[in-house]
Amino acid sequence: MEICCVCQQPLDAPVFESNAAVSITSLCQVLEGHTRVWHCAYCGHTQTTPLPSLEKFYAEDYHILINSEEEDQLYAAREGGNIYRTEHQVATLLDKCNIPKGAQLLDYGCGKASTLKALCVQREDIVPHVFDVGEQYRQFWDTFVPAENQAVNVFPEEWSSRFDGIVSFFALEHVADPRAFVTKVHHLLKEEGMFYFLVPNPYANTADLVVCDHVNHFSESSLRCLLAGVGFEVKSIDSSVHNSAWVILAEKRDPVKPKKVGSSVDGEVEQMAVYWSEFGDRVRSFERSTEGESAIYGSGFYGTYVNVCLEDPEQVVCFLDQNPHRQRQELMGKPIIAPDALPESVGRLYVGLNPGVAREVLDALDWGRELEVFYP
Ligand SMILES: [Zn+2]
Repeated sequence: MEICCVCQQPLDAPVFESNAAVSITSLCQVLEGHTRVWHCAYCGHTQTTPLPSLEKFYAEDYHILINSEEEDQLYAAREGGNIYRTEHQVATLLDKCNIPKGAQLLDYGCGKASTLKALCVQREDIVPHVFDVGEQYRQFWDTFVPAENQAVNVFPEEWSSRFDGIVSFFALEHVADPRAFVTKVHHLLKEEGMFYFLVPNPYANTADLVVCDHVNHFSESSLRCLLAGVGFEVKSIDSSVHNSAWVILAEKRDPVKPKKVGSSVDGEVEQMAVYWSEFGDRVRSFERSTEGESAIYGSGFYGTYVNVCLEDPEQVVCFLDQNPHRQRQELMGKPIIAPDALPESVGRLYVGLNPGVAREVLDALDWGRELEVFYP
């Protein structure tokens, strides 16, 4: 039986199950296996059954943005310069948190730890520490974190109750046991130490529901349930300062027995599940009603998902992406190019973007000709 990994209540039946035996990761790899999503009406949490092939994915493929030091994800394309995810995360962190002078700070599940590194440039007084589950990031850590402040897989004994603050950027959604994760964070913090973290908000970006390596899809109530359950006082849960993410600030307290938190997201989760159940048919129906060469706008999860849904993906000649880092790469054997380099021969465009922003993004573009457009 499936159990809610936040509140431990038994779960009934999946709210979503992919039709095809393929699933897509947040890094746009296609894995074997059905995606199964469950919703807990008790605490409001939604979770995906981890695929057997995920372990291999983390061991071999999950080297997020490891190609270079500068590589970063585009946060927003603005006139006057693109904003990258790392600089936005530093600005938000400094705005939200009062980090004491000389703070002992840990980035938990840090990857390259680019945000912590950029933070330490602005705040030289901070003593940085890093933790992750693989050795592959050492070369990045070594540029700014002393070896004794780095840990892989196991925490040194002397880190117990050491930290003034622990930060975590998009790690908790990947973890099969989020309670164990936040319990550990609680243990490593000083009394009243702060825990600041970001996780995806599926209610702002519906793709999160079907990204197969995101085990956890948090709602505000499941976040509160999780944190209160291990002894955190929630200071704020903000859904507006970072696109499609929850930004959470909590403080360590003594554990108290959590009270039941009502769920108000059942209907929204149901709607998202229906959306994704019908998505493939919508793509194929557009595909059949039009013809000729096509392109997919967006080389992230949505773009990959569209490509996987197509009956004849050979018709797609390229992906379009505004992120210059993406433009040097390929996706599913096709080049990723800048939108203004769209070949004249292409008459059909699939928009592979968050449906919440797709029209706004497309309206701002001028192709200089008519295109047949599929909106997600
Ligand atoms: Zn639950």
